[in-house]
Amino acid sequence: MIELDNIEKTYGNGSVTTPVLQGISFRIEPGEYVAIMGASGTGKSTLMNILGCLDLPSAGEYRLDGVDVVDLDDEELSHLRNEKVGFVFQQFHLLQRTTALKNVMLPLIYADEYADDPEEKAEDALVGVGLADRMTYRPSELSGGQQQRVAIARALVTNPEVILADEPTGNLDSRSGLEVLAIFKRLNRQGRTIILVTHDLQVAEHADRIIVLKDGAVAEDRRVAEPRDAEQEKNQAAQEENDA
Ligand code: ADP
Repeated sequence: MIELDNIEKTYGNGSVTTPVLQGISFRIEPGEYVAIMGASGTGKSTLMNILGCLDLPSAGEYRLDGVDVVDLDDEELSHLRNEKVGFVFQQFHLLQRTTALKNVMLPLIYADEYADDPEEKAEDALVGVGLADRMTYRPSELSGGQQQRVAIARALVTNPEVILADEPTGNLDSRSGLEVLAIFKRLNRQGRTIILVTHDLQVAEHADRIIVLKDGAVAEDRRVAEPRDAEQEKNQAAQEENDA
């Protein structure tokens, strides 16, 4: 799903340059649940922007679902991003003056191709995160945890293969944080690739694999859980859904 080869990112130009990412290489397979960890200032956001096709590396190669990202122009990049990646941010980034339902519909309305039944798709996404009874609420009428669930529904509504979440529990109390992490776990067990960026080890340990960045390089890449039988879990999740 994701192949990074020797990614470098340097900010600035002329005489003052700041090397931020210094040769990052790793692969993430479809259906993996990976946390990217590291102290503040180690380049997590910079890497996340590259993974999410919001920014290009200064050097190195990045293939997203087989597509060479580095060769794309802005328009192609944004097309790939809209198609493949759903974003969840620490600050939720919801439009305040509009309802949960409209917030979730937005990516469909701005999609390159007109989506059929955007309202129905948005409703389904909100039901999926347990907000069937909050669709007409505005963000200010929702708790932090509910707002983040709206943001997750918005990330999912276009059915992206990868969810990129940047400190998604950073603004939540611990209970709401656990609820959000439970949703990511469920989405992953249904086959979605999840990449969680965090400085918090307790949060990272919800993933199956932790990549630790230090000074712009991979310091550690380890599995948290035993490798899973993805096919078996998919069947099991489908079975549980049928039983419910
Ligand atoms: P993290 O997300 O791990 O806190 P960042 O990726 O935000 O780290 O930042 C890594 C380093 O890159 C920091 O030293 C930061 O100051 C620098 N940096 C980030 N963005 C820019 C930018 N647009 N211009 C110059 N330096 C930047």
